[in-house]
Amino acid sequence: MDNAPFEFAKLDYPLAGCTLYNIGGPAKVALLPRTESEVNEAYQWMLAQPGKKLILGGGSNVLINDAGYDGIVLFTTELLRMDDLGEDRYYVGSGRELDDMVQQIMLKHNYEGVGGFTGIPGSVGGAIYMNAGTVKGSTCEWMASVDVVKPGGVVTVPMTSDLYSYRGQTFCAPGDVILGGTFQFTPSETDQQAIYNHYKQRRREKQPQGYCCGSVFKNPEGGHAGHLIESCGLKGTRRGGAIISPMHANFIMNEGEATFQDVVDLIGLAKERVASQHGVQLEEEVRIIA
Ligand SMILES: Cc1cc2nc3c(=O)[nH]c(=O)nc-3n(C[C@H](O)[C@H](O)[C@H](O)COP(=O)(O)OP(=O)(O)OC[C@H]3O[C@@H](n4cnc5c(N)ncnc54)[C@H](O)[C@@H]3O)c2cc1C
Repeated sequence: MDNAPFEFAKLDYPLAGCTLYNIGGPAKVALLPRTESEVNEAYQWMLAQPGKKLILGGGSNVLINDAGYDGIVLFTTELLRMDDLGEDRYYVGSGRELDDMVQQIMLKHNYEGVGGFTGIPGSVGGAIYMNAGTVKGSTCEWMASVDVVKPGGVVTVPMTSDLYSYRGQTFCAPGDVILGGTFQFTPSETDQQAIYNHYKQRRREKQPQGYCCGSVFKNPEGGHAGHLIESCGLKGTRRGGAIISPMHANFIMNEGEATFQDVVDLIGLAKERVASQHGVQLEEEVRIIA
C-alpha cells in the first residue's frame, strides 16, 4: 500500500486542514483523482488493498483522530462537472461545493428548495451521501439519479423516495463513491434569493462560528438534540480545547487547540447525560473516523 500506482497519490497526507473541525493526523495514503475514470481506477485499486479506506468530500461532517488515518483516503474534490441538461435538469459532480450549486444554478434560475440547502458547507457528494438538509427539505428530494462507483463499476441509480431518509440513504454503501448526480429542479413563484438571504442571516444569529461540524447529533424522533443537551446544563462545558457551544448546545466547537479526544469526551458526556436524564439515546450525525 505504500506504493499506490498513481501520480495523484500522496503519502503521509495532512488531513486536519481538509476538515472544518481542523482536527486530524495524516493519512497514510491519499488519492486525489482528477476525473471520473481516475476515481473508478483508484476505487478498484483500493478494493484490493488491505486495511482501512475512507471517502472524503468537503470534510464538514467528519471528526478525524489526531493519531492519523492508517489507511487510504480518496478525495472527490476534483469532480467539478456542472452541466445544464435542459428542462431544469443539471448534472453536478461530487466535488462541487454545495453552495456553488445553490448560487450558480438554483438562485440564477429561481428554483424551489433553496431553504433546504442554504448555509450547509461541504461538497455536493457529501450532501448526497448524508442527504443533508434542513426542515425546509433535503438533497435527495431534488435528485433524478445518482452515479455511484461500486465493486462492479459505475451504477446510475434512479432516485426514489424509499432510498433516502433523515440524514441517510441506502444507495451508496460506506466506502462506495458518489461521482455526482442529476438534479431535477422546479421553477419557483417565490423569491429564492430572499429565502437564501434570510437563512444566511439566521445562521449568523443562531449558530456559532468557528471550527466545528455543525450539529453533532441527529435530532431524535419528535425532539431536538440541542434542547435536550441544554436542559442537562451542559452548555459551555469544556474538555481541553473543546466546548459545548454556549450559543447552541448541539455544536461542539474546537476553540483552536482541541484534540480528537477532547471532542469525543464531550460527545460521550452529552450522550450519557441525555440518556440518564431523558431516557433518549442520541445518535451522532458527525462521522467519527478513528
Ligand atoms: C457550520 C456547519 C453547519 C452545518 N449545517 C448543516 C445543516 O444544516 N444540515 C445538514 O444536513 N448538515 C449540516 N452540516 C454538516 C455537513 O455540512 C453536511 O453533512 C455536508 O453535506 C457534508 O458534506 P462534505 O462534503 O463536507 O462531507 P464529508 O464531511 O467530507 O463526509 C461526510 C460523510 O460523507 C461521505 N462522503 C463524502 N463525499 C462522498 C462521496 N462523494 N461519495 C461517498 N461518500 C462520501 C464521507 O465518507 C463521510 O462519511 C453542517 C456543518 C457545519 C460545519
